Amino acid sequence: ENKEQKFVYDFTEGNRDLKDLLGGKGANLAEMTNLGLPVPPGFTITTEACKVYLDSGTEPGALRDEVSAHLDALEKKMGKKLGQADDPLLVSVRSGAKFSMPGMMDTVLNIGLSDASVAGLAQQAGDERFAWDSYRRLIQMFGKTVLDVDGELFEDAIDAAKAAKKVKTDIELDAADLKKLVKAFKKIVKAEAGREFPEDPREQMDLAIKAVFDSWNTERAILYRRQERIPGDLGTAVNVCSMVFGNLGPDSGTGVAFTRDPASGHQGVYGDYLQNAQGEDVVAGIRNTVPLADLEKIDKKSYDELMQIMETLETHYKDLCDIEFTIERGTLWMLQTRVGKRTAGAAFRIATQLVDQGLIDEAEALQRVNGAQLAQLMFPRFDDKAATELLGRGIAASPGAAVGKAVFDSYTAVKWSRSGEKVILIRRETNPDDLNGMIAAEGILTSRGGKTSHAAVVARGMGKTCVCGAEEIEVDTKRRRLTVGDVVVEEGDTVSIDGSSGKVYLGEVPVVPSPVVEYFEGRMHAGADDADELVGAVHRVMAYADRVRRLRVRANADNAEDAARARRFGAQGIGLCRTEHMFLGERRELVESLILADTDEEREAALAELLPLQKKDFVELFEAMDGLPVTVRLLDPPLHEFLPDITELSVRVALAESRKDANENDLRLLQAVHRLHEQNPMLGLRGVRLGLVIPGLFTMQVRAIAEAAAERRAAKADPRAEIMIPLVGTVQELELVRDEAEQVIAEVQAATGSDLGLALGTMIELPRAALTAGQIAEAAEFFSFGTNDLTQTVWGFSRDDVEASFFTAYLEKGIFGVSPFETIDKDGVGKLVRDAVTAGRETRPDLKLGVCGEHGGDPESVHFFHEVGLDYVSCSPFRIPVARLEAGRAAA
Ligand code: PEP
Ligand code: MG
Repeated sequence: ENKEQKFVYDFTEGNRDLKDLLGGKGANLAEMTNLGLPVPPGFTITTEACKVYLDSGTEPGALRDEVSAHLDALEKKMGKKLGQADDPLLVSVRSGAKFSMPGMMDTVLNIGLSDASVAGLAQQAGDERFAWDSYRRLIQMFGKTVLDVDGELFEDAIDAAKAAKKVKTDIELDAADLKKLVKAFKKIVKAEAGREFPEDPREQMDLAIKAVFDSWNTERAILYRRQERIPGDLGTAVNVCSMVFGNLGPDSGTGVAFTRDPASGHQGVYGDYLQNAQGEDVVAGIRNTVPLADLEKIDKKSYDELMQIMETLETHYKDLCDIEFTIERGTLWMLQTRVGKRTAGAAFRIATQLVDQGLIDEAEALQRVNGAQLAQLMFPRFDDKAATELLGRGIAASPGAAVGKAVFDSYTAVKWSRSGEKVILIRRETNPDDLNGMIAAEGILTSRGGKTSHAAVVARGMGKTCVCGAEEIEVDTKRRRLTVGDVVVEEGDTVSIDGSSGKVYLGEVPVVPSPVVEYFEGRMHAGADDADELVGAVHRVMAYADRVRRLRVRANADNAEDAARARRFGAQGIGLCRTEHMFLGERRELVESLILADTDEEREAALAELLPLQKKDFVELFEAMDGLPVTVRLLDPPLHEFLPDITELSVRVALAESRKDANENDLRLLQAVHRLHEQNPMLGLRGVRLGLVIPGLFTMQVRAIAEAAAERRAAKADPRAEIMIPLVGTVQELELVRDEAEQVIAEVQAATGSDLGLALGTMIELPRAALTAGQIAEAAEFFSFGTNDLTQTVWGFSRDDVEASFFTAYLEKGIFGVSPFETIDKDGVGKLVRDAVTAGRETRPDLKLGVCGEHGGDPESVHFFHEVGLDYVSCSPFRIPVARLEAGRAAA
């Protein structure tokens, strides 16, 4: 504890940049105060004071005196003392952390009321009922949040009072009833808390401040922070603010307002107002609010002033703000403002609107949106014009709109999907046994678990729509049905789930394609509707990003169709063509005969058959990406991936043998499968190792690439092929492959008389490659970081297994906040990347550097790759717009 440290700031002393110290609410109250807006006077106790309290169990020594000094000043300003008998100053004590944690922490209103001052308040307000109601609210809130009394007991007492009087609503209780209720509440406090309700106003205030500090570490606050990834050691600030009352009659009220529509971004009058009520009543939805526009008729002066203030706030914050306000007998007071949350679509619209208004520039506009929002806009979604029947609501765990027949176990999910049905897998929660069902399903719905539950983590990994923790839904797997109230959904009934909103619907909701994807695809036509406006905003923001970004964006694509789409989406080449994808389907048998070949002739024959097929693939790919680089990776996966499953084949052969009609080929195949079987295939015979072990395989591929390039050249086109060697661990491997490849290229060049300009490079996807990048760069013209394998090998995590097996536990324990296969692990894997970049460029200053692991399309990782100085990122076609945007944001 630093003696010089200041723990209390008057609202006139702070500003909006002090969120770390004053919390969001306190910083913005100070900002508004200094803008000259009508904020009820008050002061803020810093997060530092809270941290001292949480660390040591007691408030900092200096705090009491500082609070006294600020309270003195406040009393002078207000011309009355806290709890003064004839005219009490009342204050609210509210939590306010740096990040908004809605409803998670504590607030106590009306502090300063006591048996001594309640009459004074009644007299000043000219309203006895109001005074007793305020007092009753204080004891109730204080009892519940400060003294830990079960809130139900107070509610029960209110119900009893209403029953005794035979009335239905609180409003019908008069001053005398409320007075009795105050007595009853005090009894409850005494009995439950073992102490009297404190009559001393200062004691009330001090205890409330401590309770707010303590509320930082309630179970629900901890849980919320973990889910929202808010650090646990920030602490909360405490705002002590003089009370104003919206419940002093029809000329009073309370409301919320937005400077623009948080759903569309449109400017206008958005918000709600509730006459003769306190803030808590609005949240509790006790009475019906009216649209904010109606305030103009109710109280024109306050309305005009509010409109003026909203404009001031927008120009000042240069962004959408949301506001809480109260009108006390015709006087408007601002209780809170902050830069408001908005939908993904509104974020893009608002960013461009603010540019048009000259409030922000393009660079700032890029900071107002992000890749996650763009990704959200690219999912197909439910037609919002369609009639729907809402079944329930859960956590939006993995975006998308999925429709299918309800199934309650994985076996049925797989069975039905095999027969062509679309299914939604519904479970209480999922576990690794559900994996096949999850793969088979269109979407996953669970009634338990949060954003890091198994269902959520695995679904996100698979890019599958998921709603989890829909608690109103009762899942009965035994009877194969779910119930919500009296609605029953049986196996086979259709449900629709929205992974972006968490909503679950009964029946089929029609799905419409994303207008943003239609735009990227070039299918969006002009027409004056709302979607066009969104598309216009996205178009402009993408242009801002493209103008400033340094990183180029390429696609991972293996065929002409994907390449063409990638190009429409803005790809500047192909960063990874996985040639193994060209070996599947009908060609699998050719690969099989290559693997089974006993003699050079057999092998050469198999290769000769593959060559023209490969060449045709490349011709198409180069055509789709004409003029742009295409990185073709030579064959990478373990060979057994091209062979039949060992168990199935063994059974088939055994059965055939028992019938004495085993065929020769199957027997050979089984031998090969056994020979090639590996315990750890990902660490076995794959990548460059294949090229070195199977004569002619890589040279066939290189020849196909070279001949395809030559053919395109002959057609006056501009092919720009790059040949990439996978899984290199040492420069010797690369040199061997390189020598062979150069020879083949020279042959093709000589035969065709054209210089093909083929570049040769390598993937850096093993730790040893990264560690010896300086040597490897001697033989490579480019590096492409394979961060999938690099993550797998640096962590020792099997990329195919861990997300479904133990990552849920790791995420829950906070070992990492997000899977390292999703967002690059900067400290570990990232360090190798950074060092390899430096070492590589030292050897070869013009070394071209990129990344083609999944991280290439992940927003946070793109920023990292920008920072370490890569030349490009490569990702799947659908993520290209996100990568472009984030590359722009990183550079802006
Ligand atoms: C990688 O390992 O990051 C990579 C891009 O290669 P693959 O995913 O094909 O192993
Ligand atoms: Mg790899």
